[in-house]
Amino acid sequence: MNRFNVRKVAVLGAGVMGAQIAAHLVNVRVPVVLFDLPAREGPKNGIVAKAVEGLKKLKPAPLGVAEDAALVGQANYEEHLDQLRDCDLVIEAIAERMDWKLDLYRRIAPVLAPHAIVASNTSGLSITKLSQALPEAVKPRFCGIHFFNPPRYMALVELIDTPTTRPEILDQLEAFVTTALGKSVVRAKDTPNFIANRVGIAGMLATMKEAETFGLTYDVVDDLTGKKLGRASSGTFRTADVVGLDTMAHVIRTLQDNLADDPFFPSYATPPVLARLMEQGALGQKSGAGFFKKVGRDILRLDPAKGDYVPAGGKADEIVARMLKKPPAERLKLLHDSKNPQAQFLWAILRDSFHYAAVHLADIAESARDVDFAMRWGFGVSQGPFELWQAAGWKQVAEWVRADIEAGKALSKAPLPGWVFEGPVAENGGVHRPEGSWSAAESRWVPRRELPVYERQPFRENVFGAAAADPLKSGEEVFRNDEVRVWSRDGEVLVASITAKLHLISPTVVEGLQKALELAESRYQGLVLWSPDDVFSAGANLEALMPVFMKSGAKGIEPEVKKLQDLMLRLRYAAVPVVAAVRGIALGGGCELALYSARRVAAMESYMGLVEVGVGLVPAGGGLADLARRAAEHATAAGANADILAFLREGFTAAAMAKVGTSALESRKFGYLADSDIVVPHKDELLHVASAQVRAMAESGWRAPARRPFPVAGRSAIATIRAQLVNLRDGGFASAHDYHIASLIADVVCGGDVDAGSLVTEEYLMALERRHFVSLLEHPKTQERIMGMLQTGKPVRN
Ligand code: NAD
Repeated sequence: MNRFNVRKVAVLGAGVMGAQIAAHLVNVRVPVVLFDLPAREGPKNGIVAKAVEGLKKLKPAPLGVAEDAALVGQANYEEHLDQLRDCDLVIEAIAERMDWKLDLYRRIAPVLAPHAIVASNTSGLSITKLSQALPEAVKPRFCGIHFFNPPRYMALVELIDTPTTRPEILDQLEAFVTTALGKSVVRAKDTPNFIANRVGIAGMLATMKEAETFGLTYDVVDDLTGKKLGRASSGTFRTADVVGLDTMAHVIRTLQDNLADDPFFPSYATPPVLARLMEQGALGQKSGAGFFKKVGRDILRLDPAKGDYVPAGGKADEIVARMLKKPPAERLKLLHDSKNPQAQFLWAILRDSFHYAAVHLADIAESARDVDFAMRWGFGVSQGPFELWQAAGWKQVAEWVRADIEAGKALSKAPLPGWVFEGPVAENGGVHRPEGSWSAAESRWVPRRELPVYERQPFRENVFGAAAADPLKSGEEVFRNDEVRVWSRDGEVLVASITAKLHLISPTVVEGLQKALELAESRYQGLVLWSPDDVFSAGANLEALMPVFMKSGAKGIEPEVKKLQDLMLRLRYAAVPVVAAVRGIALGGGCELALYSARRVAAMESYMGLVEVGVGLVPAGGGLADLARRAAEHATAAGANADILAFLREGFTAAAMAKVGTSALESRKFGYLADSDIVVPHKDELLHVASAQVRAMAESGWRAPARRPFPVAGRSAIATIRAQLVNLRDGGFASAHDYHIASLIADVVCGGDVDAGSLVTEEYLMALERRHFVSLLEHPKTQERIMGMLQTGKPVRN
């Protein structure tokens, strides 16, 4: 296969989706030009320019750092069509109208590069019909690329081919979307709304209907169908509000317009309450009201009987919440047998989802795996309908569903397909098995597509029943204690995985990591710090230190802090390279582990910060010493008289205000990632990239940095910082205790009471960190913050 280089992407349409797709391309550093219609008045790029400006304010943020909006190229079809010539990929995301899309394709066809892939982000139009308007030369390179809103955060991208799409085009696009954009691909058939929206929206409609049948209010339904059910925390009705009721209505209309023969057709009717809300212009979150409405700090829910909003806050019954905590088989049996209306409601919506998925499998997806993945990645459920059904006991659940269909309780009279009860699926006890997942259309087990891109995912996500390898039981285990597993996949690169809750760093973790370093130095090329879940480390385990504190007071903690600092220095000056594979939160001590590694590879969704101020402490795992050293190095690199203080400012502010980067890119801006560190778009490629880094560093003769003293900014800089802090305190922007902690942070990063330019060592600064840490531990206000955090998980402002 020829290498598919994507040097530049054009996105056509700067609406909700197009602008955010362009933003995500910027996040992952793919050059992009965003097109829209020429503005009728003012500068011709007016429409695009406004959309790009809007990206800076949108929540959740589509950009890793807002300033990067400047990297989105701006263009309009009247002046800049020529710019399409050097685009390798064109993503069309204009308004959902077949005639408008076809017009635009005709317009751009003459200027497309002869190899460019052209893909539509349509949610509901037929990809095959769209392709028919294209010149013969473009047809083989045309397909659907269906992103989910918001595209930065939703993992799913559905790729859809047509009878004329060349197969390698989709393979190339799948590789690009996976590695470069970090998305997870499902191939969908060209049927209305593809897979995720078809199953997901039918599920939401079913939920709305059953909620009415069982007389449940929206707040209760959302509590029942959110986290407790293993689904997105916004539940059902709030999800609809967030998506936008107009967008949802649009997807429903596609079902109504195209699926007259579907046995579930009657259940595609627009719910009357949805129609009424739309008439009133209540489109959900964007218009300020939908099923819910926020008034000041209060959340109100619509009471359809009254036609007005009333206070929300209804929750699931305790007994039902307890049922939902049970393992699948027990859970479903409890729900099925219960007389509690909430439990009956839950059984009803699960039954509807199994019924719907089974009846439609043959038409909409190649295999059951694609349905389950589409629901996981596009709707944020922890298990798709088929895997949940299988986990709960295939045959028993099938019998219950059959009985409900026969009793007229289900949404459609359509019987479950024969393969549910007889043949390989029934014998297997479900649709997934290690060699593949069931294809109802082809009556066979379909294995996963093996593309080279998936060799980059050592632990590729898989469905229940596929016997996916558990990373924490894989490879050769060389050491393990209660909170760290040290292992290797290849005998060359050692991996240390913290297994403690939230990967909190306790003395046991420190010991485990010391051991990992010893082993790495004795037998391996280097060490990767990686864990399979989406937390790097939430920081030091304060609770684990409580017994020491109770017994010996703050002074008793000092040796433990010293051990943590020693670990940091050991990481930095190890004889082999240590690479931190960061994903999710890396806070406090977790952030410091990453900082003291030789290199960091970070998933795009990494949130790093020195947040100790939140618990009334200063960073004392070397975080401040590292900040001082980096500032000195940058100042030295910038010239003989460069002012160290200037290079301290960003890092000092970040630590003093406990700022956390909201992406890997922002974490880099705060100094927690170096320019040379690597940002990895796909979370499942992290271990591969980190291991490759270790190998490359070892192969290139990596040595730890030289230990040398460095200059600090000294007492005059401390005075300057304090003067500014006084203003903040006196202006009421910081409490007296915040001022006190910030002064101590300033003291460490400037090197204490010494002349500007004095040379210090890391050990010296770490001793200062320890001193201030211990003094703060004795401070009542700090103790209040720590206790508050341990009890409520929320910072105390005092
Ligand atoms: P939108 O209404 O926010 O934006 C549409 C853009 O198309 C606007 O910028 C508009 O200026 C431009 N446009 C309108 N008429 C045009 C024409 N005749 N020629 C060229 N450009 C024109 O729409 P959106 O929500 O971003 O949806 C865009 C596409 O993405 C649609 O096909 C939609 O089905 C699909 N989609 C939407 C979502 C979603 O949640 N909104 C999710 C996935 C896919």
